[in-house]
Order: sequence, then structure tokens, then C-alpha cells
Amino acid sequence: MKTVTRSTCCYCGVGCGVLIEAEDGRVTGIEGDPDHPSNFGRLCTKGRSLPLTMAGHAGRALHPEVRLTRESAREPAEWPDALDYVAARFADVIERDGPDAVAFYISGQLLTEDYYVFNKLAKGLVRTNNIDTNSRLCMSSAVTAYKKSLGADGPPTCYEDIELAHTVLFAGSNMPYAHPVLFRRLEEAKAKDPSIKWIVVDPRRTDLAALADLHLAIAPGTDVALFNGMLHHMIWEGSIDPAYIAAHTNGFDDLKALVRGDTPSMAAEICGIAETDLLQAAEWFAASPAALSLYCMGLNQSSHGTDKNLALINLHLATGQIGKPGAGPFSLTGQPNAMGGREVGGMATMLAAHRDIGNAEDRAQVEALWGVGAGELSARPGLPAVDMFDAVAEGKIKAIWIACTNPVHSMPDIERVRRALRTAEFVVVQEAFEQTDTVPYADVLLPASSWGEKSGTVTNSERRISRVRAAVEPPGEARPDWWIANEVARRLEARLSPRQRHGNEQSDGNHDGSGNAPSLFPFASEQDVFDEHRTLTVGRDLDIGGLSYERIENDGPQQWPFPSGAAKGSARRYTDGLFATVDGRARFHATRYLPVAEPADARYPFRLLTGRLRDQWHGMSRTGRAGVLFNHAPEAALSIRREDAARRGLKDGDLVTVASRRGRLVLPLETTEDLPPGTVFAPMHWSGQFLDSGGINEATIGAVDPDSKQPELKHAAVRIEAA
Ligand code: SF4
Repeated sequence: MKTVTRSTCCYCGVGCGVLIEAEDGRVTGIEGDPDHPSNFGRLCTKGRSLPLTMAGHAGRALHPEVRLTRESAREPAEWPDALDYVAARFADVIERDGPDAVAFYISGQLLTEDYYVFNKLAKGLVRTNNIDTNSRLCMSSAVTAYKKSLGADGPPTCYEDIELAHTVLFAGSNMPYAHPVLFRRLEEAKAKDPSIKWIVVDPRRTDLAALADLHLAIAPGTDVALFNGMLHHMIWEGSIDPAYIAAHTNGFDDLKALVRGDTPSMAAEICGIAETDLLQAAEWFAASPAALSLYCMGLNQSSHGTDKNLALINLHLATGQIGKPGAGPFSLTGQPNAMGGREVGGMATMLAAHRDIGNAEDRAQVEALWGVGAGELSARPGLPAVDMFDAVAEGKIKAIWIACTNPVHSMPDIERVRRALRTAEFVVVQEAFEQTDTVPYADVLLPASSWGEKSGTVTNSERRISRVRAAVEPPGEARPDWWIANEVARRLEARLSPRQRHGNEQSDGNHDGSGNAPSLFPFASEQDVFDEHRTLTVGRDLDIGGLSYERIENDGPQQWPFPSGAAKGSARRYTDGLFATVDGRARFHATRYLPVAEPADARYPFRLLTGRLRDQWHGMSRTGRAGVLFNHAPEAALSIRREDAARRGLKDGDLVTVASRRGRLVLPLETTEDLPPGTVFAPMHWSGQFLDSGGINEATIGAVDPDSKQPELKHAAVRIEAA
């Protein structure tokens, strides 16, 4: 029988609605959902080829597998045995070494319901905050900056603003590749009104930069100098908005004092661009009826990513380009559900519904809502991704559970991660695909359902919550991620000692200490999980008390906040100039330009940049299964400026070794005019699964932003030699 199921694409943060066609238990086709407000029926090449990635079960993880010793191979196991074994090993470590001796590393590709159960398992049951996600590699600098400047996580803007902006500043985003369907809306707006200005900030002449009215090809990592120089010009030319600053912000005087020294000529020199271009960008931005910034990993994946975001937000606050149609800072989410993960608090640095681990009142609220005793949630900060794997390597974390992500490809300085997983006492990998770079390290492999086979919700870049629905049964014995976490959690609950389960004896929670307390994991369906999640958001900035599966079913995907009684969600935030800070005023931050973590030098003279290609996704576990997606770029290559190659006697197609202080890999060379001298570029996608010598993160650096803890995946110093 043929069926059509309404769902959401599983790749980027645009969150396109799809109609999945299936017949006899197989996905046979896909169309864009014409009624979905994110894409109105459009899909990009990746979305359109999703059915091809589901042809056959080859390469899928189909059965639980367990190995009892590191020396033995994993053997197929029954689900109950595998779940019991995971619970027993985690319980042993927790009882012996304490709750912080275990960790969970999860994914912005999990659904919100999956995320919720994992987070509750770590924080509510185990009582550790050692749960982090690959969203740390993606959006954490944007999140930190939003909180510091506007008072709360989440962009103030919506997709409609893309059509209403008169000046668009793209910073560190190659949108036609990374968010293609959304980019089409920009193209259409500019086709209708060619006076719309596009300013592109990117060291590379990307496809987007080639379309720009003004391309600022800044030296890598100099974004703060650029934004400060632009602000200097705006202030001293009188194009800021003093009334907005006075009415709605704090901290402007400190920022003004700082940027007094950041003259446009100095900034232009640091950035390596013409001063006139910097001035032009400042004037277009400040004078525009509506200026919108679209930014992504070029700002976030930096050892100063938070400052880069803050310096950009400073421009919006200083000119009043926020809280009105077509204006505002708009971080484009990389992954399909990085935002949903933050909503449930599924990271080492946050609690449910945008609460803070370090805030006693926030912890008390979550304790009450979850029904755990007062003072039982851990106040100890958890370890963010890079620190988490370092702690595993140092033997501080003994057991780690990795779900829906491939850190032996995606983390910087991969050898550090390999070392960690070799050192760990116990590694669980929950995966849909059996050939990722991380699976060989698994003591237990738990087969997970994947896109088209599981149900729940995701939140896209404009805070819109959409349903994801199963169109077919999962292959083999694969199960939904939330179900697997829930089953282990129930078993772990039964194994942990009453003290561990219920905290100290003075606990005044609703547990009686007899071991008969109600389970924290009563969920029988993903809808049960969503219903509990939304109760935790009530009264918070992301309140979705008025949202339910039924509401989304009837009225379609909705944006948050969506409190009880609301007819619809809020498209924009801060339209009244009231921000989410304690005093309601946004906060300027005096951000100083700082150089990249690892400048090029005589031994490592090239600056390595990394990024996405149009038709691949992350580590290619899925897109690598569709041959058509290799048409755009058949193989990984290292791009280098033509004269840089010629100076070394290298030409197109030559194999070269890319070596950094941490590792090396071999890639074919591709010459280009689109890079500045002394700079090379490699795609992030190809991993050791596809390349014998490993992916580009063999060479990248684990330096992190001090506030967001996001690593500098975008820049490292390397040497290039003929292989
Ligand atoms: Fe999927 Fe993003 Fe393409 Fe839309 S733009 S179809 S969400 S990959």
C-alpha cells in the first residue's frame, strides 16, 4: 500500500517540511511539503535525495552487539541483555567512582524527545552534568552571545525577515551551500528589489561572495576588528541610534571607549581589506531601513567565537537594527535540532528550558518539576565536548555513551578522541550506521532508528517546532533513540543504590527512600516525553505550554514562545525593546580583537580553513550512501591558491600531505583563485571511513572559546608537502 507521511528533513537547520512516499515498507519518494512555512514545497539536492540514502539495509546497524572484553569481537545480543549490560556497567562505575565518572555525548541530530530522555537520565537520575553534544561544535558561541547581550538564547528574528531586509550582512556563512532553501528566498527578494545590498564577510570567494555587492575578504579570524572598525565609523559619523541606545541598552560608554582606538584604517589593515570597503559596509548597514545579519560557523567555530558574535550584535544594538521587521542578528543553526537540544537543556552547561546549572533557584525548579528531592541535582558544571574527551583520556571519566554522532570524525584533533576511547573502561555507541569511525570503539553497539523510521519534534533556525514522523518501520532490530535511553534509564534506576537514586537523607523530595519511588521514566511514547518537556517550559522565555502534538497536527509547525492560551507563536522577539535581561535592557560588550589560536609560522606557513560542500552532510554517514550527491564534488580535495601551488612545484591532482602539529592526512590538490595567498581550504565531510589517511580533523586544533567552549574548527596552521 502506498502512503504519504508529513515530516521534516533531517539535515540542516532550515527545517524543510517533506512528504515521504512509502510502499511495502520502503521509502520510495519525497516531495517538499507545500504547506510547510519553512520551505513552501522546496527542497535542496540533499533533501530531495533522502530516499536514495534509505535504499537497502547494507551499512545499517541492525542488531545490538556486545563485547565482554576489549580483545574480543562484538557479538550479536538480544535487546534485554544489551540494555541490562549497559545499565549494569554504568551502575558499577557510578557506585564505585561517583556520578561524574560517566558521561553522555549526544547530537544536534537527535529529536527533542530523544534529547529530553538523555538529559533527564544524566542530570535527573545519574546526577551528573557530564552530558554534552555535537551542538557544542556548532552553535554554542551564538548561544553564549545571545545570553550575554540579549539575556536569552535564541534568535530574535524569523524567516520572513529575510524577505524584508534591505541590507544583508552575511558573516562566516556560505548560505547557498549550508542553508540552500532559505537562500532561495533571499535571491527572490533581491531579484524583486535589486537595491537590496548584500555584504559578505568571508576570507574565501565563495559562491555567495561572488554574488555580493560587497565582499570583505578579511584575514581569517579578524571579524571582531572588522565589526569594531565599522562601529567606530558609525559612532563618529553619527549614524548610530542614540535614542535606542539610551532607552534599551547598557554598557555603550565602555564599548565606545574601546572602539575609539579601533579606527577604520587600523581595522582595515588588520583585516587586510580596503578601508573604503569597510566604510561602505558600515554606511550600508547603519543607513538601511532594515539590516539583517546572517551568520554561522565562520563566527562560531573560533577560539573567540563569543566575542565575534557579541561584536556583531553590538552593531545591531547601536543602530537600533533589531526588534523590527527585516532587522536583527540571525544565527543560522547548523544542525536540524541544535535548538531543540538546548530547549531541553541537553548540554553540560545548562538545565531544562534555558535554566542554568549554577543557579540554585533554577535547579530547585527542575527538581520540583521532575519530582527529585531538593538539593539532589548536581551543581557541579559538566564537561563540554573537548574537555569531556580529555577527561576520558585522563581516566577521570570511565564510561561514555555516544549517541547519533561520530566524534572520531567531527571533533578537532581526532587522535585525542581516539586516545580517549581506547582509555575508557566502557564505551557505548548508539548508531543507525555500522561503519562510522566511532563504532569500532564500541563495547556495546545499540542500533538506532533513523530518519523516516522515528517520530518526535525538531526546532529550526527560526524557533519553529515541526513534527518528524515515521513513514516505515526501522530495519532489523533498530529502535528509536528515546526508547533506548528510556529502557536503560529504567534499568539503571532499579540498580542504583537508594542514596544514589534519592540523594542525601535530608531530601524532601517525593521519594520515600524505600526504593518504591515513582519512576522518573514513565514514558510509553514520544508524545509522553513531549508533554512532560512542555510543562518545564511554562513561564520561561521559550514557553510552549500552549503547544501539543495535536496543535501541531491541526495548525502546522509553530514558533516559540507559544504559551497557553496563545493563538500562535511569536515571529519576532524584543519588538517592544524589552530584552530578557534582569533589567530588560540589552547589554553592549566591549570586545577586543584577538588573533587566532595558532597563527601560521615558518614551520606551518599555511592557514587551513574548513567548511561544508553543497551536497554532503557532516561525516557523510547518510549522504555518502547516495551516488548522486558526489556529482557536485566527487572527492575530497585541498584547495590552494594557484601561485602558492606553483611556488612549491605542485599542480592540480597532485597528492599532498597536510600536516599540523597534531596530525596529518593526504588529499589531492585543487588550485583556485578564490582563496587569499597563504590559505588553504578543505571540506569537513570526508572521514577515515572514506579516506585512508583520515579526515581534515586529523589536523585541526582543540583550542576552545573561553566562554562558549566551542573549538576553533575553522582555523589551524599547517604545512603542505608533496605526498
Ligand atoms: Fe533539508 Fe536543509 Fe536542504 Fe531544506 S535546505 S531540504 S532542511 S538540507
